[in-house]
This record gives sequence, structure tokens and C-alpha cells, in this order.
Amino acid sequence: MKCNMKDLVISVILFLYIQHIHIVECTCVLSQQRSTESFREMFMGRCLHYQTVINSPEFCSQPKNCTLLWELFLQGFAYQPPCNTSSEGFRPFVRAAYHNTPRDKHIFWSGVYRMIDRYTYGGRKLTAIDDTLIGYLVDGFDFCGSTTSADGNEVNITSCPRCPHSASTAFWSIASINYALDAKGAIKIMLNSSRSPAIRQSSFFFTKELPNIHQPNVTSAHVLLVHSIGYQPKENCSSPSVKNLTTILTSRGISTVCEEQPRDVVLLQCADFPSSTDCDNILISSGSDRQSAHVSFITAVVLNYVFQSFMSHR
Ligand code: NAD
Repeated sequence: MKCNMKDLVISVILFLYIQHIHIVECTCVLSQQRSTESFREMFMGRCLHYQTVINSPEFCSQPKNCTLLWELFLQGFAYQPPCNTSSEGFRPFVRAAYHNTPRDKHIFWSGVYRMIDRYTYGGRKLTAIDDTLIGYLVDGFDFCGSTTSADGNEVNITSCPRCPHSASTAFWSIASINYALDAKGAIKIMLNSSRSPAIRQSSFFFTKELPNIHQPNVTSAHVLLVHSIGYQPKENCSSPSVKNLTTILTSRGISTVCEEQPRDVVLLQCADFPSSTDCDNILISSGSDRQSAHVSFITAVVLNYVFQSFMSHR
């Protein structure tokens, strides 16, 4: 068979193309198939990182045994059908991974997952559930049990569906209840006012956390309504779902205030979307600030003029 230069070039291009397709497939497969061993390694890595870097003072004297935590977590869903997992199975893990959290720092949220980590400053300013060891270890993982695999863990995570009794729902339900019962002092609640209602009756916040927020543990609540920058909000502090929340909290003796589009949140949004018109003059937002900025500007112009005149007459 004769092979000319053109055939050779085409063969090389085809070869590279096939290699590339293979790489793309590998990447996708990695996010769909996760061996128990690699799940364990990721979990263990997070466990060590949390205790040595993220929140080391809490664990100096009493470090948690990461191997034990992994085993307890796996026991929570192993060998169980993907849509028939009970929260109770995770109770030993939640108990073992629990640690103290600071007073006045708990923040609850609904519909603002992307914002919350930035707002808590990775747990340095406030403590969202993902800033506790329990939430940190599991955040972002899909997982479920398998009735056929050797260790009870489903390796093909695409077959872990979202259903009312999924492993994920079972875990986050008990974790959210535990987190709410642990709140002390002043709490914050951040809600997405770009969706209506801002609080869904089926949400974890409404069904698991709110029923477990009580006096005397929690004394006050600050509701933060946040909407996508550059868009009109769909809800405000007077909207029925928000009013319902403030009424529930107030009736429990928790003094509650509601704030729309708080300035510190807007500043974070503007860092991401600086060209949004909502970010014009963001650093001079209040009337008195704007007035004093104008006065400073005019004073600076006058002083500059006087200085220049003085220099030119010397
Ligand atoms: P939400 O609607 O924004 O959902 C929160 C997260 O849970 C999202 O990542 C969403 O993808 C996932 N989720 C929602 N419904 C689910 C379901 N049925 N099964 C599996 N995952 C589901 O807000 P929410 O429902 O009010 O939950 C937020 C509140 O509950 C927070 O206060 C938090 O403390 C707690 N929570 C946190 C997480 C997390 O950090 N990943 C997950 C669940 C619950």
C-alpha cells in the first residue's frame, strides 16, 4: 500500500483528534464515576485541612479521628437504596464531627449558595454550615448507597437521583437541624429576593432550620434580602414569605430586623460585576456621604487654585 505525505498528515491529525476526544471523555467520566477510594481520599483531605488550616484552634487539644469520621459517614448511606435513605443513619457521624461554634456568628440562607462563602469570608467573619466540619466535609459531593457493590457505596454518581429521601437530602436534613439547634445569640438569614417567594416552604431552611431556632439560644435575627445586581428585586421586606418569617421569629421572642440589599453584600457583588449601573457611585452611596464628598472635592479644587496662583506670583 502506497502512503503519501497527505495521507500521513491526515493520519496524524486524526490521531491527535482521537487522543483529544479521549481526554475530554476521561474528564467527564471522572465527574461521573468516583471510586470509594478516591471519595475517601477527598474526604480525608478535607478533614485534615479543616483541622489544621481552616479552623485549627478548635482542634489543637482534641483532634478528630478522620478515619473514624469517614467510616461513620459511609455507614450513613452504605447499602441503602438511593431514594430510601434515613437521616438517622447519619446521626453517629454528625455527633462525632460536632465541635463548638462561636456565638453571634451563625448565618442561615436560602437560594444564595454562591454568595454565602464570600460573605462569611470562608468562615472567618461568620459561620455558615459549610464553615463547620460537618458541612465542610460533605459540601458539593453527590453520593448515595448501592445495594450491589461490595462496600455499599455507589461508584456511578449519576445514578444518585434527587428525591425526597435521597442520601444527600437525608444528610443535609440532620446536619441542618443540628446546625440550627447550635445557633446562639444574634443570627443572620440571607435570602434571595430575585426569586419569588424568597422562602420556599419545601426548603431546608424553612423545614429543618427555622423550626429549630428558638429563644433563649437565639436572641435576635437580621434578615438580609439580596437580589441579583442590575435587576429589579421580586421580593422585599413586606412580601408575604418574608413577613411570614419575621412574624414567626418575632412571635418566638426573637427581635427581628429585615434589610434589603445590604451595602456589604452589594460591595461584594460589585467586585464581581463592576460595570453594573447599580455599582456607579457605590463608594459614595448615602446622601450625607455624597454631600461630604462634594464638599471635599470643591475644597480641593479651590485650594489647588489658590496654591497655583500663589506660586505663579512668587
Ligand atoms: P437552597 O434552595 O438554596 O438549597 C441549598 C442547597 O441544597 C443547594 O446547593 C441545593 O442544590 C441543595 N438542595 C436543595 N434541595 C435539595 C434536595 N432535595 N436534595 C439535595 N440537595 C438539595 O436553600 P435551602 O434548601 O433553604 O438550604 C439552605 C439552608 O440549609 C442553609 O441555611 C444551610 O444551613 C442548609 N443547607 C446547606 C447546604 C449546603 O451548604 N450545601 C445544603 C443543604 C442545606
